[in-house]
Order: sequence, then structure tokens, then C-alpha cells
Amino acid sequence: MFNIIISILLFLSCSPQDDQYKSDRESMVRRQIEDREIHNQPTLDAMLAVPRHKFVPSNLLERAYNDGPLPIGYGQTISQPYIVAYMTAAIDPKKEFKVLEIGTGSGYQAAVLSGIVSDVYTIEIITELYNSASKRLRGLGYKNVICKNADGYYGWKDFAPFDAIIVTAASEYIPPPLIEQLKDGGKMIIPVGSPFLNQTLILIEKEGEDITTTSLLPVRFVPFTRGN
Ligand code: SAH
Repeated sequence: MFNIIISILLFLSCSPQDDQYKSDRESMVRRQIEDREIHNQPTLDAMLAVPRHKFVPSNLLERAYNDGPLPIGYGQTISQPYIVAYMTAAIDPKKEFKVLEIGTGSGYQAAVLSGIVSDVYTIEIITELYNSASKRLRGLGYKNVICKNADGYYGWKDFAPFDAIIVTAASEYIPPPLIEQLKDGGKMIIPVGSPFLNQTLILIEKEGEDITTTSLLPVRFVPFTRGN
């Protein structure tokens, strides 16, 4: 009898909509990510776990798992799932990592990192997006994500150095404070290029005084803007 009651409760707590999103998420990970040769297991697991539909505006729910970016207001976007996975896998995230993200946006990339690494610090320049993303991340229980409303150009000195830095807005050049705040042996991934035009995802690796840069992928990101 007890088992039957538990089963009924479980059934009632899983709405058909949740099931739909779960299967949308599974096919997103299979077709958009694994089929395109991203095999970093922690990244795949995190992308399967994070409810992307909770990070998009309610009028775009049906497109939450589509193969593209979506507008989130204020001229900004939540990145395409493949790009989020690509950038996450590129830093080869480990459990003990402390990661800095520049460009919180919806909070989706931060949530993906949150399931993999120990601490996520994320900076957003637009106050309204900072407010909504920090509330959303708190509401969804991502306790190891700390948000700040500031110009990410300067990084976050109080918590530096970082094992990895992910920049999700395109800059014409790599902000020197971010390189400084990278740990020895750390990795940074950043789209570099002109606003809305040709940009390339660049991987930066720091080994002592040596900085190696590798061009990875042509991309199109919203611009990295500067505070006053
Ligand atoms: N990572 C986000 C996508 C971000 S879009 C997500 O998962 O949803 C890029 C974001 O970078 C925008 O929200 C934009 O406002 C922010 N941004 C641009 N320049 C910035 C800067 N100098 N410092 C911090 N955030 C910045």
C-alpha cells in the first residue's frame, strides 16, 4: 500500500511537461553536442542536468532546446547549447576548480559550470540581467555560484587566481587583468574580434610567464561592453 502511495506521489510530481523537457534535453545533448564530437563527460552530464527552459524568457519556452542562441532582453542572448558545451569542455573542468565567468546573462553557463566545479564567480555588467540571473540561480539552488554586477574587464581580484576563465562576450582584445588573474597552468576561453562580425574563440593557456593562444572556432557573440 505504502509503495502504491509513493508511486502515485512520484507520478503526480512529474508533470508531462517535465518529461517533455527531459527528452528535449537528452536529444539536445545527443544531436547537438555528442554528435559534434564533444565527449567531455562532466560537460555532457551538466548539460543533461541543467533545465535550460528555466533560463529563457517564458514566451520562448518552446525554443529553449533549439540549436541556437535566444534573446534574453537588453540586446543580449543566451548562447547556443553547443557553444556552451564547447567552452565548458575547452577548459577541461575539474571538481576542485574555481572558475570566473564574464557575462552572466541568463545564468545558464554559470549553472552548467556549477554542477561540475567547486566555485563559480560570474560578473554581469547590465544591472537588470544581474538581478534576474542571481535571483534565478538562487531560486534553482545553485549555491556555489556568486554573482557580481560590474564591468568584467577588471576580473574579480578578491577571489583570484582562477583555474579557468570563460568570457561570453566578444572583445577586440584579451583584457590584461583577466590574464593576470589566471592561475599558473590555468586556461581561459574568450571570443575575440569585432562586435557582431568575425570573431574567433581563443584558448589561452598560462604556464609561468608563457602565454599560449590557440584559435579554435569562428563564432558570433554579443559585444563586450565597458562600464563608465
Ligand atoms: N553566459 C550567458 C550569455 C551571455 S551573453 C548565458 O549563459 O546566458 C553576454 C553577456 O555579457 C551579456 O549579458 C552582456 O551584458 C555581458 N557583458 C558584456 N560586456 C560585459 C562586461 N564588460 N562585463 C560583464 N558582463 C558583460
